[in-house]
Amino acid sequence: MEFQEIEQNQGYCPICGKAALAKYGTTGLLTMIRGPEALRLRDGSHLCGSCVRKLRVMYPLQGSFDEEKREYVTYDPLPELDMNQALEASGQVSDYRENLRENYGFRSAVFVVDAAAESREGLFRAPLTTFFGQVLYGSFWMLDDVTILSGGKETKATIAAIDDYRFRIPRSDLKEWMRRIDPADKVGENGYPCSLVVQGKGIAVQPGDLIVKD
Ligand SMILES: [Zn+2]
Repeated sequence: MEFQEIEQNQGYCPICGKAALAKYGTTGLLTMIRGPEALRLRDGSHLCGSCVRKLRVMYPLQGSFDEEKREYVTYDPLPELDMNQALEASGQVSDYRENLRENYGFRSAVFVVDAAAESREGLFRAPLTTFFGQVLYGSFWMLDDVTILSGGKETKATIAAIDDYRFRIPRSDLKEWMRRIDPADKVGENGYPCSLVVQGKGIAVQPGDLIVKD
């Protein structure tokens, strides 16, 4: 059987057969620059970063904001799988994603809001709203046109910045941030928490509201 050979060689991803041990880590977490890292499964085999990305929609990072620590705490269900479960999930993930898309009217990406905060870069600059939450499926990139859905209201916006969601700090130094990073490297991906920043004030949202991309 093919599997046995793979099992003996943990350096190769059991799903796609590519070398799974990326040199930058084995946690399956999203590095905003390079995409998801490789991930170590329960039985010691490793998924490569692109298969982590694929399965992540089915096994999203689960998290909640710890008000005391002022920090977003996550639990990752993906390392709990063994190789066979990962292979099984790999066979189901397309149907899973398709059902999810159908449930949300075939939007190309959906973000679930956890919290929002307003800030401003300076007295004469436009205010910013930072949304903290999780990408349910699909990907968000900077300059994407999105619609914020809240209480039956639709607000159009353009994503000005994408960042991690760890400390729930609203983005207020957009210009400085834009100077330091390559916008093309920033992505909000399915199954990962992140923050989406848009220009504009008074965009009221409730936890559970959606930001969608057509
Ligand atoms: Zn792979």
